[in-house]
Amino acid sequence: MKSHYRVVVIGGGVVGASVLYHLAKMGWKDVCLIERSVLTAGSSWHAAGGIHALNADPNIAALQAYTIDLLPEIEKESGQNIGLHMTGGLTMAGTPDRWEWLQSAYRVFQSIGIEDCRLVTPEEAGELNPIMSTKGMLGGMWADREGYVDTTGTVHAYAGAAKKHGATVVEHNQVLELHQTADGWQVVTEKGTVTCEHVVNAGGLWAKQLGRMAGVELPVSPLKHHYLVSDTIPALEKLDFEVPMTVDLEGFTYMRQDQKGLLLGIYEVDHEHWAMDGAPWNYGMELFQEDTDRIEKELTLGFERYPDLQNVGVKTWVNGAFTFSPDGNPLVGPVPGKRGYWTACAVMAGFLQGGGVGKSLAEWMIYGEPEADVYGMDVARYGDFAQNKRYIRETTGQFYSRRFVMTYPNEQLPAGRPLKMAPAHDAMTVAGCKWGTSWDLEVPLYFAPQGFEERPSLKRSNAFDIVAEECRVIRNGVGLLDITGFSRFEVSGENAKGWLDEIMASKLPGPRRAKLAPMLSEGGKLKGDLTVLNWGDGTWWIMGSYYLRAWHMRWFNDHMQDGVTVRDLGEEICGFGLVGPKSQQVIEKLAEQDISHLKFMGCGEFDIGMIRTKVARMSVTGEKGYEINCRYGDHIALRRMLLEAGAGEGIRECGFNAMLSTRLEKSFGIWSTEFTQGYTPGMTGMDRWIDWDKDFVGKSAAVAERDGNGPAQIQVTLEIDATDADASGYEPVWAGDEKVGFVTSGGFGHSTGKSLAMALVNRDQAGEGAELTVHVVGTERTATVIAPSPYDPQGKAMRA
Ligand SMILES: Cc1cc2nc3c(=O)[nH]c(=O)nc-3n(C[C@H](O)[C@H](O)[C@H](O)COP(=O)(O)OP(=O)(O)OC[C@H]3O[C@@H](n4cnc5c(N)ncnc54)[C@H](O)[C@@H]3O)c2cc1C
Repeated sequence: MKSHYRVVVIGGGVVGASVLYHLAKMGWKDVCLIERSVLTAGSSWHAAGGIHALNADPNIAALQAYTIDLLPEIEKESGQNIGLHMTGGLTMAGTPDRWEWLQSAYRVFQSIGIEDCRLVTPEEAGELNPIMSTKGMLGGMWADREGYVDTTGTVHAYAGAAKKHGATVVEHNQVLELHQTADGWQVVTEKGTVTCEHVVNAGGLWAKQLGRMAGVELPVSPLKHHYLVSDTIPALEKLDFEVPMTVDLEGFTYMRQDQKGLLLGIYEVDHEHWAMDGAPWNYGMELFQEDTDRIEKELTLGFERYPDLQNVGVKTWVNGAFTFSPDGNPLVGPVPGKRGYWTACAVMAGFLQGGGVGKSLAEWMIYGEPEADVYGMDVARYGDFAQNKRYIRETTGQFYSRRFVMTYPNEQLPAGRPLKMAPAHDAMTVAGCKWGTSWDLEVPLYFAPQGFEERPSLKRSNAFDIVAEECRVIRNGVGLLDITGFSRFEVSGENAKGWLDEIMASKLPGPRRAKLAPMLSEGGKLKGDLTVLNWGDGTWWIMGSYYLRAWHMRWFNDHMQDGVTVRDLGEEICGFGLVGPKSQQVIEKLAEQDISHLKFMGCGEFDIGMIRTKVARMSVTGEKGYEINCRYGDHIALRRMLLEAGAGEGIRECGFNAMLSTRLEKSFGIWSTEFTQGYTPGMTGMDRWIDWDKDFVGKSAAVAERDGNGPAQIQVTLEIDATDADASGYEPVWAGDEKVGFVTSGGFGHSTGKSLAMALVNRDQAGEGAELTVHVVGTERTATVIAPSPYDPQGKAMRA
């Protein structure tokens, strides 16, 4: 071990070894992995080694596919056998809803280019896996590239290949302390102190403690997990092929062949956390006693699904632990506020995801950003609220128990909620508000009559008419919308304007004006679909998506300059939006100053009733609207005054569902669907806001896109011939037999009476009138490319 490396990776499990491999392969050779014990000594040695295609986040599914393709490569590069058994895999559904969901999941796979899957009937599934009982099954999905690996061999293959690329591996050396220095980190180990520019926490079961050594509280916890390996099953001995890896979604189990027996793994509802503060340092390569009482229900289902298990004994029980984040996805990337400290932990399926995690992290460290959109596993997708132990316990537990349970798009899960509530929350609840969640915050979805319960559904739900009525109010009268769920950053200081001008690709707004502002990465990908407000007194606001608060703050801090202060106002400022043609009448009744001159995209300070507010005349609904920002302490009073003042105009409270429907009718994209860090300005139409005459972050890449051949796919609006369900996102778009794109988001436009979607499609299919098809919950539907903004294309309503 040298005294200095460019990168020290802590942890020799599958994830640390993969990070090391990717760094060295991509050219950073001066990298060292330090392992407390021996390689694999955490969760990795006793994993079931299953590799399995499905993931609810398509970007992560794509990275899983990358890992699966990589496995034979590292075997070749290292010369280390990884025991790869590519048996193919089945995912089976046993209820009509689940079967519909699986069919939709299959279409998502098609969208993201995972082509080696197909849907199968129960009969076909029974032939593919003859030891599985297909009783109650409605259908399944077959994937060619599923199977399992030898876990120890795989970790050694990553590490061996890394060493061939010049990396160093040091075993039997525990990292004891971490200290940040002016230009990196001091890593104090049992065998001496090492300095480095970057340190990577790949500590698996110990990731929590490695975080704390650097003053970081990571939202991660280990949970216990069982699998059994059976004695030899005579029926398997007779087969001349290995049965496929099989997931029984209804049964909470996964299964693969293990020699001539079966390995059955269980995600039990009655989950059990372990060592929430991180595993003990003296925890060796040990297992826990099996707890068959706790997993009895799922075990029984497993034995019914694979009846041969009833006739043979259990050869081995494995009850081990591995780690989960609140949403089950990894925690990867640079930790906000800790320059040079990177995480690659909470990887729940290291053998399946480790390759993608290693690749993305190495790209991030070397090139400044990963190639793929990895927001779904970015450590900065969580804020400080997720450090709370109970929050972590509830959310990780919920994820574990629901590992194979489908979540409907309109379903609200209870863990970790309610946490943060806008001050008017309780009064709004009394008024019938049904709540969703964004980050830590409760956000209003819609207002329903007493006793109403929304049924989870893939199709249009029983809240359809309620949302329709709120849309009608927004389009014809005036609606009141709690806008606490937007992010707000205050930018001030002598260099505020210069800094904003550099990080935003658009022109800046003049005094008392607001402007849409794309923010780009150095590589020319989108980093934000923001609104910049110039209050005219030297202070500016940046407004965006609430749940990106920590993510955007990390970006701002990474690009900080002297003479600028950026403050997240998310704990201080909230507000209400007045939306609809009658909104001006209502606000005029309360404004102490003349607000009638406030033009579209104008902003300023106004006394609304007795409250000092900052008002901007804009609305994502495409109607005339005012966003009225107030201090937290004024939220309740502001709501009361606005409702009273609007009574004569028939004001009604509305929620985000109506906002989403109305924005779709305007073809207004939103972050995470139309706009992501995987897309460019040219693809998304964001280029129309770019000021090409100035310098800004990402300009050379944006110019290259503008002056090149143009993006292969561009954003269009589709009208879909759907009847009882709408597109939701990632459905493939077809022109005949050719896949030409995918839906980014969809829904019903209540004012236009149309099922609408926005989609990224090949440019030659993007012309108005192009006849395409889209798969919507089990059915192929005709979809026509229509002109953007089917509601009020000239934008007269919002400018009125
Ligand atoms: C029963 C069971 C079944 C599973 N089945 C599957 C499966 O089928 N498919 C799949 O993909 N995944 C499966 N997993 C999950 C898989 O094991 C984990 O996702 C994976 O092992 C995580 O790897 P890791 O490198 O992040 O962590 P770990 O394997 O825990 O490695 C972390 C390493 O860091 C080292 N370390 C920690 N602190 C220090 C320190 N201070 N100094 C030096 N070294 C340190 C540890 O010694 C350890 O070796 C299963 C897990 C279990 C328990």
